[in-house]
Amino acid sequence: MKKIGIMGGTFDPIHFGHLVTAEAARDAFGLEKVVFVPAGHPPHKRHRTVSEARHRIAMVNHAIISNPGFSLSTIETEREGYSYTIDTVNEFLTIYGDNTELYFITGADAIIEILSWHRVEELIEKCRFIAATRPGFPFNKDSQIPQEYRGRIFPFKVPALAISSSQIREMVSQGRSIRYLLPDTVEAYIRKNNLYRKENFHD
Ligand code: ATP
Ligand code: MG
Repeated sequence: MKKIGIMGGTFDPIHFGHLVTAEAARDAFGLEKVVFVPAGHPPHKRHRTVSEARHRIAMVNHAIISNPGFSLSTIETEREGYSYTIDTVNEFLTIYGDNTELYFITGADAIIEILSWHRVEELIEKCRFIAATRPGFPFNKDSQIPQEYRGRIFPFKVPALAISSSQIREMVSQGRSIRYLLPDTVEAYIRKNNLYRKENFHD
């Protein structure tokens, strides 16, 4: 059995909270690799302008390049219209074959959202979920996850980093330092491309 991790997210921008979560999950669950999948048109983020896919992809690339256990898939950003996790999971099963166990890695906040996702039954049947602790988002599997899904959802403790992309965007727009919240190369990319500056900041 091949075990592959999928780390989905908007990654606007990617930060150390994402990276430590993916690496800790890879190590603890014995995953062959973790594939980062930047979201195309996130249905739940329609209220704000998300940076262009090419920027989010470039930042993920910079962030993961030094880790041979990480890779990037543009499967969702290349898809037309909204992207649904179930479509991504189905495509991964086609690519890697039926002999693969897929582990979708999410933070505790995102796993709660999953229950409202499109075709959730099919999703839970086809992949397992690693629900990482995240500061500020309490998570209790017994009270927050319906019983029939619990066997497929694994709560997972990661070193707590109270970092979010929204906070980083806000800090950049205020001219504050974001050093040590994300890789230097990603910070340099943000500066070079003038991302999250006041004039184009909409959150
Ligand atoms: P935003 O503030 O724009 O929502 P974010 O920091 O939550 O950004 P996303 O791209 O929305 O980043 O998150 C992708 C995935 O990473 C989600 O499953 C989310 O729960 C998880 N995640 C994000 N930040 C952390 C963190 N600091 N610790 C653990 N998991 C995290
Ligand atoms: Mg988020």
